[in-house]
Amino acid sequence: MPEGHSVHRIARQFDRNIVGRVVAASSPQGRFAEGAEMIDGRAATAVRAVGKQMFLEFDDDLWLRVHLGMYGAWDFAGEVVADPTIASANGRMGQTNQRGTVIDDPVMDAAGENSLTSIGAPRRTRVHVRMSEQTTGLAGDEADWPPPVVGQVRLRLLTDVTCADLRGPTACALQTPDEVSATIAKLGPDPLVDDVARGEEEFTAVVRRKPTAIGLLLMDQSVVSGIGNVYRAELLFRARQNPHTPGREVPDDVVRGIWRDWVRLLSIGVESGQMMTMDDLSPAQWRAAMARRDDRHWVYHRAGLPCRVCGTSIVVEEAAGRKLYWCPKCQA
Ligand SMILES: [Zn+2]
Repeated sequence: MPEGHSVHRIARQFDRNIVGRVVAASSPQGRFAEGAEMIDGRAATAVRAVGKQMFLEFDDDLWLRVHLGMYGAWDFAGEVVADPTIASANGRMGQTNQRGTVIDDPVMDAAGENSLTSIGAPRRTRVHVRMSEQTTGLAGDEADWPPPVVGQVRLRLLTDVTCADLRGPTACALQTPDEVSATIAKLGPDPLVDDVARGEEEFTAVVRRKPTAIGLLLMDQSVVSGIGNVYRAELLFRARQNPHTPGREVPDDVVRGIWRDWVRLLSIGVESGQMMTMDDLSPAQWRAAMARRDDRHWVYHRAGLPCRVCGTSIVVEEAAGRKLYWCPKCQA
């Protein structure tokens, strides 16, 4: 599932390529035909990401709300302006490792998690488009502009030079400014939206009065925004916190530590495009971790494998319908 870092990356891509331009909107699949008609011909004026949701504003107070859910993704074609914060001095795209060093030769994940032009659910988990279709259909060749529609495109936003295709979202709807405010008001703090210190107080206060297990609270978007299954497991391991402890029994300093760690991991995720959750990797380890998910997590997706710290087998269990991975010894 795309977690908060993906949605912030998508919003930044919209800011660079779509905001400030008039868009032609359509719903090739038909399921958002009326909404697309409302948007068509308007200029995009602003974009916001909060947690797992993106809000794109158009002329005359019309907002588009998109929640990618488990399988949603945006694919960009045509002119796709690279993020200047990860472009290296020689103009090529770079990546910044954990020590802040720019790597000129970016490491891309085979599953497409840190793709520059396709952001959302990892390609292998998407239901609507096969990878071969994506790579052949969305090459962005100037000869066939606009790009041919591939798969079930819920919404296509097209400027003179850039095409953004949305597939497989859980929510894609128009909202008034009041509705946007109401949606955002229900969401817990997001470190990239809210004041970080105030967010820490808010998160800590809510967690510390809940009888609900901390492993469930971290996935509750009204408690904290943007954390999904991967970050949940990794944050808990990094805190050496048992996922079953009720929120109100987790010590204050541990709750605050989890918030601060989320602030840090989210910014690394937005910058690298990866849910990089391991620290202090050597350059070789860092490259391996960027290329393969299984090399960049402490416990996520490691059921039955030895804990990287203590050697105990990592366990997996169902928690609110999602797989929860943890080390029964480190997180006793
Ligand atoms: Zn362990």
